Amino acid sequence: MAETISQGARAGKKARAGRRPAAAEIARIDEIFARLAAANPNPKSELNYTNPFTLLVAVVLSAQATDVGVNKATPALFARADTPAKMAALGEERVRDLIKTIGLFRAKAKNIVALSRLLLERHGGEVPRTREELTALPGVGRKTANVVLNVAFHEPVIAVDTHIFRVSNRLPLAKGKTPEEVEAGLARIVPQKYLLHAHHWLILHGRYVCKARKPECPRCIIADLCRFKAKTI
Ligand code: SF4
Repeated sequence: MAETISQGARAGKKARAGRRPAAAEIARIDEIFARLAAANPNPKSELNYTNPFTLLVAVVLSAQATDVGVNKATPALFARADTPAKMAALGEERVRDLIKTIGLFRAKAKNIVALSRLLLERHGGEVPRTREELTALPGVGRKTANVVLNVAFHEPVIAVDTHIFRVSNRLPLAKGKTPEEVEAGLARIVPQKYLLHAHHWLILHGRYVCKARKPECPRCIIADLCRFKAKTI
């Protein structure tokens, strides 16, 4: 596929190790995603949500917290408030009480109520579909905006979290010292046909297989394509 090849060729300059020819690097990256796709054709977010607004709130809550922890708190919160109008009416104090099991709950409650009010004032109560508008909301950074764009609106963007950052640098796919560098590198090298789901495949691979302290290389389906020096097979 021409698009894939041109993306891969650009990426090869950055991502290839040693003197592997670009064509081999393109084939390697394609094979990595082909295997991840075959193993999980329709990957889903592990955060529970019912609409773009509750997804946005869940992602804001997930900063420096686990999806499991967020999912324990959100049923009660979303039963009371699953729209910006209801969340704004619920108010900061009651939101705080409902999310107090999640880290940084005070700041997050403040941001969630403030962003709900802004959604009402600026966007007619809808979640906007551009990164610029999303990152203008309190508590919403580039990563959160990218998750919403990808999961709610099916935009082919990759939100680089700690798992994607680690996996991308280890394999490597795209190397970088910051999430932004890795995001830009991945945008260049991930074949177009895999971009929509690449975010979830890499997160899930990092969360369950290529773990931070002890990657489970013996059961890794892309181990033969990985150049991480400390891999355990
Ligand atoms: S072989 Fe090990 S280090 Fe490489 S991607 Fe798989 S789990 Fe991660």
